[in-house]
Amino acid sequence: MKKTCPKTHSPKKCPACGLNDAIIDSTLGVVHCLSCQAKDVRITKSPEFYSLAKKDRVQRIRDEHSADLVQPFSGTKPNPDFFKLYPDKIKEYNVGKDLEKL
Ligand SMILES: [Zn+2]
Repeated sequence: MKKTCPKTHSPKKCPACGLNDAIIDSTLGVVHCLSCQAKDVRITKSPEFYSLAKKDRVQRIRDEHSADLVQPFSGTKPNPDFFKLYPDKIKEYNVGKDLEKL
């Protein structure tokens, strides 16, 4: 059985100029040829790459915030929002009665 490698047997043409062979990046896929990359650095990475990177960054910011956004206590009073999110913590902090009063 013959194995064909798309990289060597049918090189894709650059999507920008269609003249030079495109560069196949293992993570980005088809990337513009070097001469096109030299002309415009903004097209060296695919739009998918940017949207993924952006999504990842947003998710990271959200994770950082959610961790310290809700605190179990506001001053000396238990924070009902926190215990709505983490009902199992009510026993741990022994705040069941305090929450009923709120
Ligand atoms: Zn090109």
